[in-house]
Amino acid sequence: MIQFQFLGTGAADYDWSKIGAPGIHGSAGTIIDGKILIDAGDCGYENLTRFQIDFDALNAIFFTHSHHDHFRPETVEKIRAARKTNQKLEIWASPEITRQLPSDAYHLHMIRPGTDFSCCGFQVTSLWASHPLGNFHEEPMHYLFQKEGKNMLYALDGAWMAARTRQLLTIRKIALDLIVWDATGYEEGHFRSFEHNDMGMIRLMLPALREWGIVTNDTTVILDHLARTLWPESQKEREAAVADDGCLVAYDGMEFAL
Ligand SMILES: [Zn+2]
Ligand SMILES: [Zn+2]
Repeated sequence: MIQFQFLGTGAADYDWSKIGAPGIHGSAGTIIDGKILIDAGDCGYENLTRFQIDFDALNAIFFTHSHHDHFRPETVEKIRAARKTNQKLEIWASPEITRQLPSDAYHLHMIRPGTDFSCCGFQVTSLWASHPLGNFHEEPMHYLFQKEGKNMLYALDGAWMAARTRQLLTIRKIALDLIVWDATGYEEGHFRSFEHNDMGMIRLMLPALREWGIVTNDTTVILDHLARTLWPESQKEREAAVADDGCLVAYDGMEFAL
């Protein structure tokens, strides 16, 4: 059994000075088996405290990219300071991120898309993401986690599925049990759709991925990174909006077992 907890599920259009207030979704953050945290940006510390996550049980932090809602060096340092154990955290991230952290305080692993490694009992592959950054040279990453015959794709932030990622999944004959997917917009055709998905894009990708065998009837899709301004406000309305798509809508604190 693999346990997921969605700590922060908002895109970067929330007022995070009000984190903890009703209706304020935190910056992106998901924890797997209480050990692997993915992303720690603007609300990265509050994401852990408000859901009583055990800091000492954390083994590793994976970063997708250096946008501030996913990575802030001061957040990572705050997490380190809150730990009582002197076991060093593993950091898996691009060089643009690892160079911003003190190398003596962490086990830093500089990776690029297409890297295979293992962590906390998972076989992991970093994958390509279509999510250009202002610094142009940084390569954002999605992650494929594999354990106990289960395959999970963590795919945010990013627009579409990068062709190379689709290719790798096909070559390795990966059928996904779970996709955690960038669904920044509900409405179709928004200007953000060059960097982020909207529901129209997901509705186009799902049947195509079925043809490739990457998505099957057993695949669970969880929509994440939801923009305040591009989705209905309440969780109930959001779920109703995608009821026919068979997708789940992430919310802060949501748990999911695979
Ligand atoms: Zn983001
Ligand atoms: Zn981003």
